[in-house]
Amino acid sequence: YGKKDEIGRFISGFNMMRHYLKQSIDKQQEYEQNRKALVASISHELRTPLASIKGYVEGLQDDIARDEETKRKYLNVIETKTNQLDHLIEDLFEFSKINVEQMSVKKEVVNSRKLFTRILYAVQLDLKEKQFTLEVKGQQIPSEYIAVDQARIEQVMSNLIYNSLKYGADQTEVSFDVDEETDQLVVQVQDNGYGIASGDLPHVFDRFFRGEHSKSGDNGGTGLGLAISKSIIQAHNGQIHVDSQVGKGSYFTFTLPLWEIEDNGKEIE
Ligand code: ADP
Repeated sequence: YGKKDEIGRFISGFNMMRHYLKQSIDKQQEYEQNRKALVASISHELRTPLASIKGYVEGLQDDIARDEETKRKYLNVIETKTNQLDHLIEDLFEFSKINVEQMSVKKEVVNSRKLFTRILYAVQLDLKEKQFTLEVKGQQIPSEYIAVDQARIEQVMSNLIYNSLKYGADQTEVSFDVDEETDQLVVQVQDNGYGIASGDLPHVFDRFFRGEHSKSGDNGGTGLGLAISKSIIQAHNGQIHVDSQVGKGSYFTFTLPLWEIEDNGKEIE
């Protein structure tokens, strides 16, 4: 009887191990596929503006642009495309840091009211210079402890807020709200800008995804901002999602788990 028991335990242990091994191989394959897809899209994204720069430089060299005005136009395009590349490389750098060090966001236990007040203050100062206002909804920002990488959360907030400004008319209003639910904070950034087409909604968090509006206008976007934001929120065990309607506006929400006293002994990554 004892032996049978032992064999049973051995088999179930073996099965469990096999299951984990298979999972880990599947994960490896998935990473590898993602990596290949990422390299392919980066090459494509870099090549497009480069091809255009090359074309205009050749135009200047071959004297196709004869008059001063055409020359200036060519130089302007070259400058715009160079700036685009600059933005792209900066975002890629951020993105690679996050992906590689996904497990090492530097979390600190901070007070949520202090953190968000400071972030809002910085954004509002900048917005004032740009003649925009940001409305803060709700009574007061909840005063709770959260374990977060402050700079990263600030990055998510500014991605969301500046997107609201980028993808709206001059009169776009942006509002911000933080609420507390049982074991998490719910942060909302809402605008009454152009909104996002329902077909685009499932893709806005994808790397390099850009809606029609964004591709036509030249606003220095790269399609990485929301992908970066999503990685950051996931590294904090939170979730981020969006609701939007064309012509009405967009509604981004992300959550951050509250820091539990029981977490006290646990190491904060
Ligand atoms: P980027 O702004 O660099 O294009 P993001 O990853 O920040 O890249 O956003 C991806 C796309 O999602 C944008 O190109 C735009 O089409 C859409 N989008 C993001 N935020 C908003 C918003 N607040 N209103 C409307 N569209 C938005």
